[in-house]
Amino acid sequence: MRSRGSTRKMRRKLQDAGLGYRLLIGGMALIIAGGIVFFVLMVRRSNQNAEQDAYDELVDAVTSGYNHEQITTGMPTGSEESGHRVLFLSSYDPTFLTYDDQISGLEEVFDEQGVMLDTLDMETKKHSTQADMEQIEEQVAYRMAQTDYDGIIAADDAALRFVEDHQDEYFKDLPVIFFGVSDTEEGTKAAQDPNITGYLEGDNIEQTLDLALQLLPDTKTVVAIFDNTLTSQVISENYMDLSMEPKYAGLTFASLNFGEFSLDDFCAQVSLLQEGAIIVDVSAFQDGDGINYTVPQSVKAISSAAQVPVFRISKGGFRNGAVAGYVNLFRNTARQAATLMCEILNGEKETKDLALQEQMTACYVVNYTQMQKFHLSMDDLPEGTVILNEPESFLDKYGFIFYPTLLMVAGLLIIVFGLGWEVKERTKAEQDQRRISAELQFSNEHDHLTGIYNRQTALAKIAQDGRLKNGSDYAVMMVDVDDFKELNEKYGHKSGDGLLKSVAWDLQKLAFANNAEVARYGGDEFILLFFDRHLSDDDEIIRQIMALFRKEQPIGIDYVVLHASVGAANSEIGHDANEVLIWAEMALQKAKQQGKNTCTLSTRQMREENRSYEQLKAAILHAIGNDGMYMVYQPQVNTKTGQIVGLEALVRMKDADIGPGTFIPIAEENGWIRSIGRLTTRLVCEQVGKWIATGLSVPPVSINYSAEQLQDLTYVDYLKQQLEANHVPASCIKLEITESLFMDNNQRAEELFKELKDLGIMLLMDDFGTGYSSLNYLSYIPVNVVKIDKTLVDTYMWDNDGIFLRDVIRLVKDLGKSTICEGVETKGQFERLREFGCDCIQGYYFSRPLSADDAFLSMQRGNLFHEDDTPIEEAGDEIRLIES
Ligand code: C2E
Ligand code: CA
Ligand code: CA
Repeated sequence: MRSRGSTRKMRRKLQDAGLGYRLLIGGMALIIAGGIVFFVLMVRRSNQNAEQDAYDELVDAVTSGYNHEQITTGMPTGSEESGHRVLFLSSYDPTFLTYDDQISGLEEVFDEQGVMLDTLDMETKKHSTQADMEQIEEQVAYRMAQTDYDGIIAADDAALRFVEDHQDEYFKDLPVIFFGVSDTEEGTKAAQDPNITGYLEGDNIEQTLDLALQLLPDTKTVVAIFDNTLTSQVISENYMDLSMEPKYAGLTFASLNFGEFSLDDFCAQVSLLQEGAIIVDVSAFQDGDGINYTVPQSVKAISSAAQVPVFRISKGGFRNGAVAGYVNLFRNTARQAATLMCEILNGEKETKDLALQEQMTACYVVNYTQMQKFHLSMDDLPEGTVILNEPESFLDKYGFIFYPTLLMVAGLLIIVFGLGWEVKERTKAEQDQRRISAELQFSNEHDHLTGIYNRQTALAKIAQDGRLKNGSDYAVMMVDVDDFKELNEKYGHKSGDGLLKSVAWDLQKLAFANNAEVARYGGDEFILLFFDRHLSDDDEIIRQIMALFRKEQPIGIDYVVLHASVGAANSEIGHDANEVLIWAEMALQKAKQQGKNTCTLSTRQMREENRSYEQLKAAILHAIGNDGMYMVYQPQVNTKTGQIVGLEALVRMKDADIGPGTFIPIAEENGWIRSIGRLTTRLVCEQVGKWIATGLSVPPVSINYSAEQLQDLTYVDYLKQQLEANHVPASCIKLEITESLFMDNNQRAEELFKELKDLGIMLLMDDFGTGYSSLNYLSYIPVNVVKIDKTLVDTYMWDNDGIFLRDVIRLVKDLGKSTICEGVETKGQFERLREFGCDCIQGYYFSRPLSADDAFLSMQRGNLFHEDDTPIEEAGDEIRLIES
């Protein structure tokens, strides 16, 4: 039943209505993405932290911030004690900047290897007189006599010179490793001794100078600061050598000796230096007054005084005003020396085989703040340069939390928006549903043209109204406008409608005044229910009604006088309202037969003459028991193609001119509908089996299933048996079920649906728009096709351009179901319904219910479009006509 187009539209609808949902999902995805990004950034950050630690260590190595707590002496903490003992002979004292680096570098390795480390500080940077040296020697002599050392590590020029001078006395045959030696000549010479090897200390002055010139290409003068320490003297010689280098031609090399001035005087000197000059602070430990300064102290004083940048060639001072420099990493070198010593002690290497080791490790350092101060570019710094004080950008610092938060907040906002949207959409959909339900409810009960109750309401009242119960007095009256058909044809439908409205209002007024209710029963037929009274032949009411018709009615520019035939019946004990209704109908027939414009009151005698209700029942029973019924088949036609896509099987009685509209309710009342249900099922299965046997492809045939049939507990078994017996696949049969079955929340109905589903039988909802018509349940009931009842089509086709009908069709389709409209009689109706999106049409316009043989011919033809009906085909989103 469902056409390709409707599936596509449904998909589109899902896409549209899903915006709120899709926003929710998108928002959620963003939040999850935020979480993932956060996780990834955290992992990256923890990796970066490891890098950062390494970098921090490097920063420590070039500044003066080494943590003293890490330095321990005494028992090794690492592995087993090796029993080896090494003496570290240092030219420095513990206040010296690189001292901690050296000790900790040594300890890291020796602790690990279980080597005991002793230190002896010569403090030559501060105390280097003859007397000082003698006292040192005394200490060394004492120590060496006391302790058995397996090796010596000597740091700096002074210590190496001491070892060399006293090798035979105190250090005979002991392996000696030196580092931090600036005097290349001395170091090279010492390394020739089979017991000595070591690392020369690059003075770094050339690298520092090159860096300074790269940063300040306009430099004219270099002023180096020296003092009287041994190292300083060695470097100053190198400095003088450098000044000869051709690459520095055009550059003036000057120097200042810190040891010749008081600090204040020295600073005064420095402050005179003008733009174009740079300072290279080599060494400034002791001033002319003999006062000692730490590196931070002297660098701070000098750089505060100077207006030109100060560069450094060794650790420290970079946080105290020095701009940049190239410095040795003593900790690394100490580590290398200690490792080498361990290898020698373990016999893996021998000093005699070891040539002078490579230069110490070193790196470039710049201070970001100072660089900014002197407007120096941070671009093109050598790789691995340690940058101090570099401000961390917001994103560097908080990016790991910022980006995920941004994503999550965006996600949340989208969710909030999506929720809002969804709520808005739902509210709107619910409002639509309520509106349509309310309108449906009204339309279910009322006749659209006249506004009074409709036939369904009248029948419902007859079935249920407490005022019409057995034993009470009431009367049913049927009123039929005489020759209305002719008037309609003569003056047109519009005028006809006007007349009907006017009649309805008059009757309404009359009913209102007489404790009665009126309903439009058919085209020109009205029914009146009089409560608490009976009618007599000469009743004032009957008179009034007849008079009401006789008055002149304007029609166009003309006037007409209407006439009516009226049939009435009073209640009788032992007979229910349905019977009274039938009596009234019979009386109406009688009135018509008597020449119209008259009223007949049903009497018992009259009824006996006529076929009585009992006879009706008997005829029905007889038909059921004696093969007195047959089926007719009405095609259901695809609105786009004209193809027959289904047939509805409708039951007929063979020998009586009674329609199913009459006998089915009677059968239901009397409990015979189960038999009729099985009968029709058998007839249909047999017929479909025959059709299939001819090789014809038979579209599904629907059988009407009455709610009363629920009592037939083994109906589905019977149906299955019939299918099998006639070789009919389940897909060839559909059941039409009225909505009451879905509504009653009936367990038996649920079972039935399940059994039918298991059998593979499709369900259609019949008569939509005549019953409860609450739209909610449409979404969960197990039907794929909804049949919109004729009354809805008749009532709403032209009203307001049929917008309401269009809304109903749309709503049903929006719930994913296809629609069949019943009772379509004209081309106009058909085209309109097609426009509204109705999938399928069953009605006289295409075909009346047909005998089996005629139905067969129709199916063979396949297409029921009239010559001037145009097939349409969906192409993309627009509907396009196929050229014929
Ligand atoms: P229904 O199920 O609503 O069936 C559709 C009725 O509308 C049929 O009336 C059909 O002939 C009629 N119809 C179809 N097209 C048009 C049209 O264009 N104009 C007009 N005026 N009428 C049209 P029918 O055959 O008289 O059946 C009346 C009702 O009796 C059915 O209404 C259904 O409720 C019941 N019925 C008929 N056959 C069976 C059956 O085999 N079993 C049961 N349980 N009920 C049946
Ligand atoms: Ca039906
Ligand atoms: Ca119907």
